[in-house]
Amino acid sequence: MMKILLSVLLAVLTMSLVSAQQQADPALLSDGQLHVVMCGTGSPLADATRASACVAVAAGGEVVLIDVGPGSWRQVAVNRIPAQAVSAVLLTHFHSDHIGDLGETVTQSWLAGRAKPLEVYGPPGVEKVLAGFAQAYSQDVEYRIAHHTEAMLPRAGSTAVAREVKLKSDTEAAVVFERNGLKVTAFKVEHDPVKPAYGYRLDYKGRGVVVSGDTAKSANLAKHAAGADLLIHDVLAKDVMGMAAGNIERAGDKRRARLVRDILTYHAAPVEAAEIANEAKIETLVFTHMVPPLNPPVTEQMFLRGVADVFKGKVVLAKDGLRFDLPARN
Ligand SMILES: [Zn+2]
Ligand SMILES: [Zn+2]
Repeated sequence: MMKILLSVLLAVLTMSLVSAQQQADPALLSDGQLHVVMCGTGSPLADATRASACVAVAAGGEVVLIDVGPGSWRQVAVNRIPAQAVSAVLLTHFHSDHIGDLGETVTQSWLAGRAKPLEVYGPPGVEKVLAGFAQAYSQDVEYRIAHHTEAMLPRAGSTAVAREVKLKSDTEAAVVFERNGLKVTAFKVEHDPVKPAYGYRLDYKGRGVVVSGDTAKSANLAKHAAGADLLIHDVLAKDVMGMAAGNIERAGDKRRARLVRDILTYHAAPVEAAEIANEAKIETLVFTHMVPPLNPPVTEQMFLRGVADVFKGKVVLAKDGLRFDLPARN
């Protein structure tokens, strides 16, 4: 009996090990395209089907995660992004819905085989964020090295290194890095009182993707997004949220009504994002970080109303796992 049980257990273990190895999609690293996978399309408001902010970009052997909000690592893994190949994290700003899975990102990519420190880029303050996560995870690192040995899990891989990105001015973009054909630039967006907050542009072989981060309507974003294929923009249905604030206040909850009204000022409405997409002459506009959450699906209309009047290109409401493959143009 014991023998049978043991062999069943072994078979299950072997199967799960094999499938773990097969999980990553190696083509993402080597097929010469610019790949974009939406790994977190939610907001701070709870959504059963969406993790918080995260976009994965794979090109030229680089795997870059733009923001790593709570729940996003699971989406990176289930969408077969090669975890050991994560080569950089770009943080747009330090709101919790953009940084909550930083600990998981560092730990899981290390366990998957990343042996060098993980580079984490962001506005001034990024060092403080990393130091906090390093402290919180320091005991976990020791458990894992004691358990698996340092030969299996090089200590350097358990660490992240902060790379502060400084802008020369409010309107100029800064080159974050350029390697293996992938060029990453950062620029300022409008998310006061969060200062500075960045958007990022990633260019590879004539294709370009822009991630807005969290921003109100920003002329600077339009300037730096010019000619990109994809603009991934946060959106808040201001009319609906404004009405919700009124209802909440009438129901007697002044505190919550105030919180809702506060967030109206630092995100873009869908039509405002469409105006930016139009100005930048981008090909496809992708809405993400949608507030309120799209539940039930009939709420999609809140984000599409009036958009087609402004922007004639393709408009997509992002969901976790949505993927774009952009073949090289040059
Ligand atoms: Zn934010
Ligand atoms: Zn946010």
